[in-house]
Amino acid sequence: MNNSADKTKFEPGDIVSVLLPLPIEAAYDYSVPEHETLVLGDVVEVPLGRWFEVGVVWGPGKGDVAAHKIKPVAQRVGVPPIPEVSRKFIDWVAAYTLQVSGAVLRMTLNPARRWQPPTPPTVIAAAGPSLETAGLKVTPSRQKIMSAVARGQTYDTMSALAKAAGVSSGTIRDLIEGGVLTFKMLTRLAASTSANAIAPQLEPAQQEAVRSVSEKLGQGFSVTVLDGVTGSGKTEVYFEAIATTVAAGRQALVLLPEIALTSQWISRFQARFGFAPAEWHSDLTGKQRRENWLNAATGEATVIVGARSALFLPFQSLGLIVVDEEHDSAFKQEDGVIYHARDMAVVRAREGAIPIILSSATPSLETMVNVEAGRYHEVRLPNRFGIAVLPTITSVDLRVHKPEKGHWGRAWLAPPIVLAIDETLRSGEQVLLFLNRRGYAPLTLCSACGHRLHCPQCTAWLVEHRLTKRLQCHHCGYNAARPTTCVHCSATDSFVACGPGIERVAEEAQARWPDANVRMVASDTLDRPSAVAELIDDILQHRVDVLVGTQVLAKGHHFPNLTLVGVVDADLGLSSWDLRAAERTYQLLHQVSGRAGRAERRGRVLLQTHDPAHPVMQALLSGNDAEFYAKESEGRRELAMPPFGRLTALILSGPDEIQVRAVGDLLARASPQGPGIEVLGPAPAFMSLLRGRHRHRLLLKTRRDIKPQPLILDWLARVRVPNAVRIQIDVDPYSFF
Ligand code: ADP
Ligand code: ZN
Repeated sequence: MNNSADKTKFEPGDIVSVLLPLPIEAAYDYSVPEHETLVLGDVVEVPLGRWFEVGVVWGPGKGDVAAHKIKPVAQRVGVPPIPEVSRKFIDWVAAYTLQVSGAVLRMTLNPARRWQPPTPPTVIAAAGPSLETAGLKVTPSRQKIMSAVARGQTYDTMSALAKAAGVSSGTIRDLIEGGVLTFKMLTRLAASTSANAIAPQLEPAQQEAVRSVSEKLGQGFSVTVLDGVTGSGKTEVYFEAIATTVAAGRQALVLLPEIALTSQWISRFQARFGFAPAEWHSDLTGKQRRENWLNAATGEATVIVGARSALFLPFQSLGLIVVDEEHDSAFKQEDGVIYHARDMAVVRAREGAIPIILSSATPSLETMVNVEAGRYHEVRLPNRFGIAVLPTITSVDLRVHKPEKGHWGRAWLAPPIVLAIDETLRSGEQVLLFLNRRGYAPLTLCSACGHRLHCPQCTAWLVEHRLTKRLQCHHCGYNAARPTTCVHCSATDSFVACGPGIERVAEEAQARWPDANVRMVASDTLDRPSAVAELIDDILQHRVDVLVGTQVLAKGHHFPNLTLVGVVDADLGLSSWDLRAAERTYQLLHQVSGRAGRAERRGRVLLQTHDPAHPVMQALLSGNDAEFYAKESEGRRELAMPPFGRLTALILSGPDEIQVRAVGDLLARASPQGPGIEVLGPAPAFMSLLRGRHRHRLLLKTRRDIKPQPLILDWLARVRVPNAVRIQIDVDPYSFF
């Protein structure tokens, strides 16, 4: 028995370590059963307790279990082995985010877990390269196999091929590993031809961008930032890079924020390529997930478009990653394995030695700093495609222009916006009113005693939703009917709504323009996947005149007849204590503004604000984003905040506030010391109560050249934490509540 650590093939009787997709430290030893040969990455079913679990052969056995206790692997699952680059990536992400590898593996393996043999869904066939070109030694048994799979001949199982060629299964595995044999889907994808693909005629600036991006393809790892204003054709440019990658026989992955993953994007892709991409997001059925997973694993799916978790698919031969809207904070997963998909995508590209494109009209400060430092290559598209021009942006100073009350009650639209909407509707064009707040009113209070209705389980006000006639907590889902008497002073019918949500703005718009079709759009009104498609169609067919929406509408969409964007409260995001509050507000408002005037009609944007002199408003009004980024960057550098320093958050939570605080104090006393290391807190979190758990935060701030992970591990090892207190580790936090 050969037990060297670099062993990759295991024969009957060998012991292997199988990593299980569980959120515990879970790599257990199993033995290879008779008549089976296993390779690293093989997906196997193993006995676990009284049940079975599907895991992955991760390495040779660790030898920490007595031999007689080791059980054999039950069976190999009929899917391609998880490639080495994916396995390395999983371990890398686990180490970086301080999670166990099993928790990360779960994101890769989920669809394979409830795999239903018996019929193997794949066949074995020639992959393309010959033994010689793959650099494999030519032996008689290998030649027998190659002639068995010649001319497209396929086999259902390895043993069928072994029998046909008169060789052992082990030889076949060598050839799979060596890349001359591959697993293929039995049923080919519906339309994997590009016969009806239509590539657009690119403008000179776009051609130049394509040339610049293409230089990097097939040349190993590189990061290219595609920085172009909304509507400049960034999508068309990265489509070309995808086409080149696919033509070279490799797969391309496009990551989009879930919200931008719409039928509009898919149909554009289909028109350009003549086939549909494989999708990967939360709306797929179990069957679709398994199919798309397998297609990614076999290489049958050449282009995969997905939300952040698509990064963990076991791609057979990934050749390009595109992260569209790379600045979007939706790429940060905030629970389970806490990771930033854009950052991890860069790591995945590096591990796979492939290029990655980060596309955005408003790149993140992190990305811009990497461009300045020369680590990332930048390609710019400064103008909108064709005759479309950027909208004119003006501010409406709410201190001067106060909304005038109407017969329906309080108003939120100031006279300049009302006038602009009048004009727009009269010329038969469409309006978007943007307010990033769901519901009717963010706060309900008693007009007699001032008592505010808040969630019993969270530090949050209850938000009134008139459509559903409920008061809702947007953090935990708690909801209740509006009380008729005040719990505090017993006054009856004393509750009043304070401030606007989109329902209230829609109410005002409908009251002002009774003949207009007013439509409200928020994440909770787009609950079905088809609802998005219907809405887009309604807008394009002009069955809507005034859209009132949250940021679900801000991204990616292209509505030619929409010429006016009114931002109801441009200051909304600025008040929060968040390192990136200004940057995010700028990105969001820029993105929303980009919805205006995307065709021959010039668009205009009106920003209602109490502070037109604020740097964010100034940047939007002047269009001088360089200055804004420079100032933001300077501010962060001075404070040694990311990306000039590193942050890692520890979030402690538990049912007992005193106990949580005590653990916080213990941690503070044991905190890591040294030059370039600082610990802030413990302090009650902004949401000091969330879902009934009390929360305290500590923040480890380290110099850029100091890795926080070893510090954290050492720190936590020195403190005994009671089971009732949970510690969440958030490396590179984006959320500070
Ligand atoms: P971005 O991704 O930068 O926002 P898009 O790629 O979505 O820009 O392009 C904006 C619009 O202009 C889209 O409707 C797109 O189809 C169109 N467009 C861009 N470039 C071209 C081109 N070269 N030929 C035809 N249409 C184009
Ligand atoms: Zn709540």
